[in-house]
Amino acid sequence: MSNPRKILVVGAGLSGVSVSIQLLRKGVDVVLVDNGTNASSIIAAGIMNPLVFRRMTKGWRVDDFVPSSKEYYASIEAETNTSFFHTLPMRRMFSTEHERELWLKKQVREDFQDYMTPLESSDDTYNRCINQFGSGRIKNAFTVNPSVFLSAAKQLIEAKGSIINELFDYAELSGTTYRGAQYDDIIFCEGYLGMNNPWFSFLPINPTKGEVLTVHSEKLPEDESLNRKCFNLPLGDKKFKIGSTIDWNNTSLEITEEGKAEILKNLSYIIEEEVDVLSHQAGIRPGSKDRRPFIGTHPEHANYHVFNGLGSKGYLLCPQLSKELVDWIIEGKELDPEVRIERYYPKA
Ligand SMILES: Cc1cc2nc3c(=O)[nH]c(=O)nc-3n(C[C@H](O)[C@H](O)[C@H](O)COP(=O)(O)OP(=O)(O)OC[C@H]3O[C@@H](n4cnc5c(N)ncnc54)[C@H](O)[C@@H]3O)c2cc1C
Repeated sequence: MSNPRKILVVGAGLSGVSVSIQLLRKGVDVVLVDNGTNASSIIAAGIMNPLVFRRMTKGWRVDDFVPSSKEYYASIEAETNTSFFHTLPMRRMFSTEHERELWLKKQVREDFQDYMTPLESSDDTYNRCINQFGSGRIKNAFTVNPSVFLSAAKQLIEAKGSIINELFDYAELSGTTYRGAQYDDIIFCEGYLGMNNPWFSFLPINPTKGEVLTVHSEKLPEDESLNRKCFNLPLGDKKFKIGSTIDWNNTSLEITEEGKAEILKNLSYIIEEEVDVLSHQAGIRPGSKDRRPFIGTHPEHANYHVFNGLGSKGYLLCPQLSKELVDWIIEGKELDPEVRIERYYPKA
């Protein structure tokens, strides 16, 4: 399919590469610009969990996002002959008796069949970690290896469009001309750095710092991801990613002793063993107060668009929402009212 439009995408994290791939699939000529200082997508664990454990509910729009993510990541793997997307056996270690009761109520409901495995006695007696209140196995959880995915996505974009490795300078954008080149549209996918964007400064992007550890453990199971107060993601070879802290309104990329101590304390609710810390990283999620992304078109500049605010669930949300943004720009299909940036348009 070919489309006469030429679009400049700013930012090559998860959001920018996904928007670019969706545009290329519509035959659009894409130029992607990124300065190579990614703060979130590469740090992420890449876990896709369809449940919200706090109240034992389904995540927002999971019935759309799960099939769309499966299709999207598998198609990129096939096109690039890579492997980065896997089913993730995941077990919630209940943190209260009440949580277990909630699970028992929900597991019989039709709308939870795809996400919860009905409890068995072996879930109550599971003994490969601290088990106070029993455990439940989640269905349809997945993981993406972020670095393999991002390099495969960029490989795909470079084959059909182009990538410029430099800082996008707002002062050099005049109308839809950037550094002498003419575009039809500009799409900003800048993660938390979108806070500095002069056109979309009305969006309340909430920079949410997160720290993660990679540890060596002799005791954590390698065939399941356990979750209570923290997640642990088996990486193979007795290595695990453990995280993550949540620090609102913090734009520092420094790793801290406090962050490390918090993660290790949370891990102590899962195993008693002292683990060896192999590495420690920090990133910044582009959060939003109402936990919904910021997607849409500038109220006055009809060719400036934004795709941001993916928060802590970007890997699950992005495949479907990047498609919806592109369908809006190219075909005029209505966006989900919950993501539309009209909710933050400046009042006249
Ligand atoms: C510790 C941690 C753990 C996480 N774990 C998970 C998880 O398990 N599952 C999950 O789904 N999500 C997770 N996330 C969240 C996930 O990382 C984000 O939702 C998602 O990656 C955000 O992607 P993004 O493209 O919007 O932002 P980013 O990844 O920050 O990408 C933005 C890009 O824009 C570029 N850029 C910005 N401004 C400019 C400019 N002026 N010029 C050029 N380039 C520019 C930046 O360099 C960057 O590459 C985690 C995040 C953190 C911090």
